[in-house]
Amino acid sequence: MALIFHIAGFKTCPFYQKAANVVCAMNHVYPNKIKADVMEFPDRDSYRAWLLGSEGTDGFRNTMPDTRAHKHTSCPFSWVGDGQFVGGCDDTLDYIKGNYMGTTKRVPQVTVTDPVIEGDYDYDLIVIGGGSGGLACSKAAAGTGAKVAVMDFVKPSPVGTTWGLGGTCVNVGCIPKKLCHQAAILGHQATDAKSFGWSDADKGKHNWPSMITNIQDYIHSLNFKYKVDLRSNKVEYLNELGSFTGPHTISAVNKKGVERTISAKKFVIAVGGRPTNLDIPGGELALSSDDIFSLETDPGKTLCVGASYIALECAGFLTGLGVDTTVMVRSILLRGFDQDIAGQIGDYMEKDGTKFIKGVVPTKLEKTAAGRILVTFGDGQTDEYDTVLAAVGRYADTKSLNLESVGVKTWKNGKVIVDQEQTSAPHIYAIGDCICDKEGKPGLELTPVAIQAGELLSQRLYSSSTKAMDYDTVPTTVFTPLEYGSIGYSEEDALAKFKNDVEIYHAFYTPLEQAICEDREHDKCYVKLMCDKTDNGRVVGFHVLGPNAGEITQGFATAMKLGMTYDDVRETVGIHPTDAEKFTTLKVTKSSGEDAAGGGC
Ligand SMILES: Cc1cc2nc3c(=O)[nH]c(=O)nc-3n(C[C@H](O)[C@H](O)[C@H](O)COP(=O)(O)OP(=O)(O)OC[C@H]3O[C@@H](n4cnc5c(N)ncnc54)[C@H](O)[C@@H]3O)c2cc1C
Repeated sequence: MALIFHIAGFKTCPFYQKAANVVCAMNHVYPNKIKADVMEFPDRDSYRAWLLGSEGTDGFRNTMPDTRAHKHTSCPFSWVGDGQFVGGCDDTLDYIKGNYMGTTKRVPQVTVTDPVIEGDYDYDLIVIGGGSGGLACSKAAAGTGAKVAVMDFVKPSPVGTTWGLGGTCVNVGCIPKKLCHQAAILGHQATDAKSFGWSDADKGKHNWPSMITNIQDYIHSLNFKYKVDLRSNKVEYLNELGSFTGPHTISAVNKKGVERTISAKKFVIAVGGRPTNLDIPGGELALSSDDIFSLETDPGKTLCVGASYIALECAGFLTGLGVDTTVMVRSILLRGFDQDIAGQIGDYMEKDGTKFIKGVVPTKLEKTAAGRILVTFGDGQTDEYDTVLAAVGRYADTKSLNLESVGVKTWKNGKVIVDQEQTSAPHIYAIGDCICDKEGKPGLELTPVAIQAGELLSQRLYSSSTKAMDYDTVPTTVFTPLEYGSIGYSEEDALAKFKNDVEIYHAFYTPLEQAICEDREHDKCYVKLMCDKTDNGRVVGFHVLGPNAGEITQGFATAMKLGMTYDDVRETVGIHPTDAEKFTTLKVTKSSGEDAAGGGC
């Protein structure tokens, strides 16, 4: 549906004429996207009478919910839809540039509810949770001069693992995971090295304790850096567990169990999530991603339960490090991701040495006399493992926050219901892994999403910005042995939405670096673009399966945001010889049925 762009001004004003001409031109160029509604006044006096009213507070500008509009005196005055204030001439041009020039995406803009809160409080803002989102949000808010505290307290995992400041990503998520992934890649590359003349490059046996010591040392250095960062940004770090006791008060409990009450005008909930435990007899014997990255010894024969990206990433690097690893999958791999590619990942991992048990779940775990874990499967079979790693999902860590008492609504799984980070309480906001929308759809559980949402929220709260987090077209990468980067629609979602209007281009390839390695299979890497034929071939789905997919995907993410089309990609000069250049030569469509196997250079 076309957006109605209203613009008002007086006839002889050059700024009004310029802005109105641009809006009308956009109406002609993109009639399905923008409709111009021009209100032209004969002279300045009649325009000002309409805008300001007789009292200065009873004019049209005061009908807008955005308080910035109430101070607008110049010409023109523009707004979109039912009352979203845009501004004057420059704001109008910026809006058009940002939303229609070179991109078909609209930058989301919202105004936060900003209730006037009287009284004395300890802080302007308390952020509960010092993970990726909470740290970013608190620093951005303090940067505007607000008095800010961030509370971060780590509850030990069921087997007692605990860690420092920084949340999931740095301590038990992205960072240790990527370093373990790199350890596994180096193992494969040591094998490849023989094909490059390093005849003595025997990879030998992996030393788990040495890897974990180095990773943990690095994590500790980051924990320290985050504390220093908070101090230099004038954010108070409270190593206390928070829960609401009133609309503006929080009970803060430290690790000695000492409790106190602190208060703030506003709050941001950024408590993230924790791994779901295995809900079966003996489930407490299983470890999770909260534990694996600090295990002092090699986990031994391991059963990874689950088919999420966390399960497959862990299984991938464990296999790569020489650990006997089995993945137990109830139904499909990588739910929510492109299933064609999920299947290719599974096949590759299987050839790489990971075992898969499909269509079953564990029903019981028992400790054996020898200290191993006897696992009973749903089909009655049993096997013994040294470690069971549960990766069956994550829950939002909101249960003990006492959110109902302050009017913050949660979904049945505990996720905080938000509309652009605004909870159901006007002075409480939420970001990161703990949020969902009003239909219960979870937010994107990714570090950069939590960071960006947190920073933009602070700018809206304290710097009168209206820029909101754009949760669309967010790039992501799964760090399985073959990395998988994606942006936008999966093939099944694209076909469901665009039906015959989507064109799918694809190709298999072999990275040059692997072409002369005898242990590497050829044509296992893959690129795929899905394009909307009705929108100039705009790319709606981008997928790459291969080494360094994260780096490739990041580069294309900006282009996707700017409305990249198939022709744009084909007209881009490739960098030779690289994997990413494969996109610039993509010709074979799936619908043609032609062979998508890679050729030579
Ligand atoms: C194994 C694994 C691998 C991952 N890999 C990637 C990846 O490669 N790329 C990526 O982008 N994302 C990855 N993620 C996801 C990423 O880690 C999260 O999206 C991100 O950390 C979410 O940030 P957050 O601020 O919402 O919460 P968190 O980082 O989880 O931080 C929340 C903090 O709040 C604290 N807290 C909770 N309750 C309270 C309370 N009541 N009082 C005080 N403190 C409290 C918690 O202890 C925690 O420190 C991975 C996650 C896992 C588990």
